[in-house]
Amino acid sequence: MSNPILLSSPLLEGNEKKYVEEVLQSPYIAAGGTFLDRFEKAFTPLLDPHKLIALNSGTSAIHLALILLNVKEGDEVICQSFTFCASANPIVYLGAKPIFVDSEEDTWNMCPIALEEAIIDRMKFGKKPRAIIIVDLFGVPAKYDELCALSMKYEIPILEDAAESLGSSYKGKACGTFGEFGVFSFNGNKIISTGGGGALVSKNLDLLEKGRYLSTQAREKVHYFEHHAVGYNYRMGTIPAAIGLAQLETLDQKISQRRAVFANYQKMLDDFSEISFLAEPAYVFSNRWLTAIQIDSQKAEYNREDLRIALEKEQIESRYLWKPLHLQMVFKDFPYYGTDIAEKIYDKGLCLPSSSHLTMEDQLHVVKVIAALHQKKASPNV
Ligand SMILES: *Cc1c(COP(=O)(O)O)cnc(C)c1O
Repeated sequence: MSNPILLSSPLLEGNEKKYVEEVLQSPYIAAGGTFLDRFEKAFTPLLDPHKLIALNSGTSAIHLALILLNVKEGDEVICQSFTFCASANPIVYLGAKPIFVDSEEDTWNMCPIALEEAIIDRMKFGKKPRAIIIVDLFGVPAKYDELCALSMKYEIPILEDAAESLGSSYKGKACGTFGEFGVFSFNGNKIISTGGGGALVSKNLDLLEKGRYLSTQAREKVHYFEHHAVGYNYRMGTIPAAIGLAQLETLDQKISQRRAVFANYQKMLDDFSEISFLAEPAYVFSNRWLTAIQIDSQKAEYNREDLRIALEKEQIESRYLWKPLHLQMVFKDFPYYGTDIAEKIYDKGLCLPSSSHLTMEDQLHVVKVIAALHQKKASPNV
């Protein structure tokens, strides 16, 4: 039996081992040494004039961003509903209240119309939201012209959750740089991985500096332990930074490979009228982190669950899209604005194996499983 085909596994074929060995031979396995600094500086060509601080997860980056945006107990924060729970959990850590907003069909990200409706309605209750968390799902940027205009109009800062979209851009501007803060994740299956890690992006260097201070237990700059604030242990360690530096060196290659995986699926499934893909408009560049398909069950005899099971039987990992947060038990009591767009996309969606090093043979295997289900339609007696 061949190896299982995973949804998105890291590829560590660059300088990862070399850099980690360098760290292991130094006295700086936890903090200190040069790798953290080198890792952070390596983002300059991508983000300039924005800078970033490397942290131990994307979730901690969102938490710190909300603290730096002055989100306090009782405040309201708008959040895209169609996303991973980590986009919204930090709102609750702070005793604030998430207000969920629906997606639109073109990008699957926050719907500007529903966003404005939410802002106006919350202001009617006398609560102006403190921040708007927008996500670039599966590496596709949200509609920033419209969303940024609303952020300016109502003077509410954007926190861009770009955990899935490192290397993507919108009208030539890099994902992660659209808000007061941006966030990346380097968790296990993201486009680059440090084994676990994240980053906080901003062009407000004073606030970033404050983030760095809070992420290292709010230690005052004296030789002994002096603290004037409650801090967090959120800084990235040296070993993840060493891995991250090597990963970042091959980001462009990983993006080309993921884009090729996406293009191959699109080409091979072109004749399958029940299957559709998220389009990339001319002004968008997507890292195509995961290939997510939509299956129209009205045009086929199978749905996403049938396909997931059929793939699982062949040891192929696939996964549902993120279940919208307003439908999650844990968030069910929070307000939601929009209709059922995110829900409909979720109901029809499945993420296919999308590793940057997915072989053509493995991809053909995935397509064969889909083709077998697709053909059942033509022979109803099976
Ligand atoms: C992965 C992810 C996160 C969380 O990042 P971690 O590094 O796992 O904490 C946040 N938001 C989205 C949309 C993600 O996909």
